[in-house]
Amino acid sequence: MKPRLIDRLRSYFQDHRSDAHRLLHSLVALDRQFLLRSAITDAYASQADDDAGMPDSPLAEAVALCQEAAVNHAWLYLALRHNVARWQYLRVHLETMDIEPVDAAAYLHFKERLATGADEDAWTLEFDVAPFSREMPKLQEADSIGNGVRFLNRRLSSRLFETLEGGALRMLDFLRLHRCQERQLMLSSDVGDLDSLRTALRQADHLLGRLPGAALWEQFAPRLRALGFEPGWGNDAGRVRETMAMLRDLLEAPSPAIMESFLARIPMIFSVAVLSPHGWFGQSNVLGRPDTGGQVVYILDQVRALEADMRRRLAEQGLDAIEPQVVVITRLIPEAEGTTCDQRVEAIAGSSHARILRVPFRNAAGEVLPNWLSRFEVWPYLERFAVDAERDLLAELHGRPDLIIGNYSDGNLVATLMAQHLGVTQCNIAHALEKTKYLYSDLYWRDMDAHYHFGCQFTADLIAMNAADFIITSTYQEIAGTADSLGQYESYMTFTLPGLYRVVNGTDIYDPKFNIVSPGADPDIYFPYERSERRLGHLHPGIEAMVFGAETGADARGVLVEPDKPLLFTMARMDRIKNITGLVEWYGSHAELRARVNLLVVAGHVDPAASGDDEEREQILHLHHLMDHFGLDGEVRWLGRHLDKATAGELYRFVADRRGAFVQPALFEAFGLTVIEAMASGLPTFATCFGGPLEIIEDGVSGFHVDPNHGDEAAAKLAAFFARCREEEGYWQAISAGGLARVEARYTWQRYAERMLTLARVYGFWKYVSDLERTETRRYLEMFYGLQFRPLALALGH
Ligand code: UDP
Repeated sequence: MKPRLIDRLRSYFQDHRSDAHRLLHSLVALDRQFLLRSAITDAYASQADDDAGMPDSPLAEAVALCQEAAVNHAWLYLALRHNVARWQYLRVHLETMDIEPVDAAAYLHFKERLATGADEDAWTLEFDVAPFSREMPKLQEADSIGNGVRFLNRRLSSRLFETLEGGALRMLDFLRLHRCQERQLMLSSDVGDLDSLRTALRQADHLLGRLPGAALWEQFAPRLRALGFEPGWGNDAGRVRETMAMLRDLLEAPSPAIMESFLARIPMIFSVAVLSPHGWFGQSNVLGRPDTGGQVVYILDQVRALEADMRRRLAEQGLDAIEPQVVVITRLIPEAEGTTCDQRVEAIAGSSHARILRVPFRNAAGEVLPNWLSRFEVWPYLERFAVDAERDLLAELHGRPDLIIGNYSDGNLVATLMAQHLGVTQCNIAHALEKTKYLYSDLYWRDMDAHYHFGCQFTADLIAMNAADFIITSTYQEIAGTADSLGQYESYMTFTLPGLYRVVNGTDIYDPKFNIVSPGADPDIYFPYERSERRLGHLHPGIEAMVFGAETGADARGVLVEPDKPLLFTMARMDRIKNITGLVEWYGSHAELRARVNLLVVAGHVDPAASGDDEEREQILHLHHLMDHFGLDGEVRWLGRHLDKATAGELYRFVADRRGAFVQPALFEAFGLTVIEAMASGLPTFATCFGGPLEIIEDGVSGFHVDPNHGDEAAAKLAAFFARCREEEGYWQAISAGGLARVEARYTWQRYAERMLTLARVYGFWKYVSDLERTETRRYLEMFYGLQFRPLALALGH
């Protein structure tokens, strides 16, 4: 076996003392206390150039694994990431070059001392949830992260049925538990033991076997009732018989696959509460306001899909008389500035019965807060909000919800409080954990506190992610990062808020609670270009004029002089990170690409004065400069306007009609909705290899990856694609079909809802039959809430 890295480093340091010394001192010479990965690899690369012997050394290996370092006059501390969430901490004495391992707490302690300049209190609170979950089955392989439910089913099925009778008895109890609106479902209490259940199942099978499969439940319900069966097994004889056969199989020879299919059929979810406290949450006039963006669109699409899936399942279960209930709970804002945010209840368009329920924030005196508040300022109001919202929700639903879904840090905290109190299954959705977005938001939390209150936010995150029964994310990277960058959830494993507490085990991303369930694009808006019967033909003249028109001015620049060439299309907000200017530069510098296609850009404003945002204005001016510099006015059409969804949807298809392609050139993209939209329209798509699109697209099959840091290569890849499309009949169609198939298989709201509700059932079931309840963790988190979160939130004043 290869010796451990630390031993190899030790001998390397002895044998190549000067090389190692040179690197260490070049790091010290940077004169920074904290070094990011890029600084360390750059310092190393500049030395490796001088010394051809170094690349294969243990030092090179350590540099490759190193995520960050901290340094003072005597010591260099290194954090090495061997694999996803597998960390090792080392320290090197700068004088003697001795290397020793240190534990996470010592590493964090060193960082605290550097950050505060003081020797922190010798006794600092350490947050550590690892001991609580020793008994929990954990995933072993990094590749399996995000697929917790499958693992859980496998492990727990075998545990549950360790003795067949024991498992079967738990199942019997579980089936007698189901009720909706005071009505018993599945099994009546008359079926008292396993023998009676087995006999009843045999008799029912005999009875159902003599009926036509399509016979409706009502036709034979009295006869099944006499055997102890209540509604919920299926809407017709065929389905009821199938469901019962699954149960008989389970009682005979349990398997995880049958377990999942059987659980998916049990009527468990009739009502869902979705929490999104902050922001302007409404259906019109709210987008583009502070803190109101993707999350609102996501939730509205999600709610419609959830309701549809709940309705479909209830119909299959023979319970279509029950109306599924989905309620989004948000803040009521009296000073609503023309939005509906001051309405207590608002029906959600496109759903039958889903609605928004608004509950105001109140201050300590009980007065309603009239105005909008930034998401960073909501902390003192959430506890009261949770109590008030719970009361209003119970009244609205005439009972408890079956599932509570939190959104973002504030929603997840309220979901935690409510779910704990009501004993309901809790699902968390982070959307974006802020911790990795802001550099040193943990170490220097005090300096940022006036604006951001990260102390409150990260404390709330820790509580909520550990309390949740399951967590869903849009991508793998959100949980676990990539080979060389850490995941958003992973960043909560080990960190410190100096002066407050130190986290040595904040979360375990190998816990089976994590599941990737990606959102989709609205199927009513984004559908394949070939579906001519659904196309919005009446928009075509307008789109034609917009794209090929000759008028320029306030919101357009550039006129396409060769309109027959295919279009390369991009559409995004004009943030620096979206890198629209980067794309224009690649295009401008690549003669072949320019010769083959026109570029259509929908972004920002053409008139810089129309922008209210400094970063956007700077990007606009830069784009004008590039258009001038490369002389692009005959080949690039830049539209500086926000397109409504229907037009945007038709535009993707319009570009596909002309055998064009879509490009998403961002420096980083968390998920990439436009990528999904373009693919769902059948438009071949090129997208950044940093972030979500890396997972969405399989390079060369369902689209292409481009590296935004290597514009030349990206432009060449685009040019090569169009060249091949000209030469090879069917190539464009093959990539188009690949994208469509990928979206259909992985990124639709229908699939999302189906997965989400299956997860809710499976986690709810295991919570009931096993010790997944995690009582010890819950009590620990309650204490953390009481002793850490509350004082922090109260200190903000309210
Ligand atoms: N969008 C739009 N009209 C525009 C520009 C963008 O409808 O003029 C939509 C686009 O179709 C997508 C969303 O805005 O649904 C942008 O989502 P994405 O995830 O690409 O980026 P974000 O802006 O959320 O970072």
